[in-house]
Amino acid sequence: MKKKLLEIKELKTYFYSDEGVVPAVDGVDITIYEGETVGIVGESGCGKSVTSLTTMRLTPGKVVGGSIEFNGKDILSIPEAKMREIRGNEMAMIFQEPMTSLNPVFTIGQQIGESVEIHLNYSKSKARAHAIEMLKLVGIPRPEQIVDEYPHQLSGGMRQRVMIAMAMSCQPKLLIADEPTTALDVTIQAQILDLMRKLRVEQNTSIMMITHDLGVVAEMCDRVVVMYSGKVVEEGDVITIFTNPKHPYTQGLMKSIPTLDSQEKRLHSIKGNVPIPGSLRKGCSFAPRCEFAMDKCQQDAPQLEEVEAGHYSRCWLHSIHQGETRNDKTAN
Ligand code: SF4
Repeated sequence: MKKKLLEIKELKTYFYSDEGVVPAVDGVDITIYEGETVGIVGESGCGKSVTSLTTMRLTPGKVVGGSIEFNGKDILSIPEAKMREIRGNEMAMIFQEPMTSLNPVFTIGQQIGESVEIHLNYSKSKARAHAIEMLKLVGIPRPEQIVDEYPHQLSGGMRQRVMIAMAMSCQPKLLIADEPTTALDVTIQAQILDLMRKLRVEQNTSIMMITHDLGVVAEMCDRVVVMYSGKVVEEGDVITIFTNPKHPYTQGLMKSIPTLDSQEKRLHSIKGNVPIPGSLRKGCSFAPRCEFAMDKCQQDAPQLEEVEAGHYSRCWLHSIHQGETRNDKTAN
């Protein structure tokens, strides 16, 4: 029996400004089981990063609805002191650009060791030894020397490994990786993904993988959640989503993956742009870009529905197809 580690229900995170309200995350449900890797995909501005930051309770936005249960704890209501114990200990995050997250004035060893000093009460010397072990684990050469160096002395790939070492330092139950390999070249990218896979197997860590790179999703994830305009539009296991996507947006994303045998001179792209955050419209938010849009799509917003076991999609086409199937059966 799979055990739920994270359960996000009907989450709403809004931003308020002089220009109005931006519903960055607008009723999102995501469940992650122990040891599972779930990919959250979608274009920039779809709400995936705000979802992850809200899960860590680090969002600058305001949570106006929903719940987040993590390892039996109600994340949105526990005191900040308790949340600090969870962050970096049970739940940790790897960011896209390590230079913005590593502190330039502290050594690598101090930064990796800090979490075990705080959360596990390690002494300074024990924390330093632990930092060296973590550096070895993530494949950093000369760890005894690197532990006393500063972030600017390392390459981009090494800094990203240091970030992973920091995040994994307390063996978190959940690792949130926000575009962890986007800024890296492909060889380093493959090494980092290998490393995350290894850590997941060895420590049974669950991973929330935020990415727009479908190659990373195919390689790493068990399940995929596709987001568009602050909502989940499709969800299913990775094979189903790649071989039988149901939502027109996911179908567009899949068509945009380059293949070696393609005769097309240009890559497929989804026409139009993601809606400007905060621009409210009636009906389906994907309608202005959707080749199947109908009158109903302009008026009414579809709900996320189960289209087959464990596979969900938010589109009126399914209920129409289901209606046709039902009518066909009645006619027979
Ligand atoms: Fe396209 Fe309509 Fe489905 Fe939205 S509900 S994705 S507009 S067909």
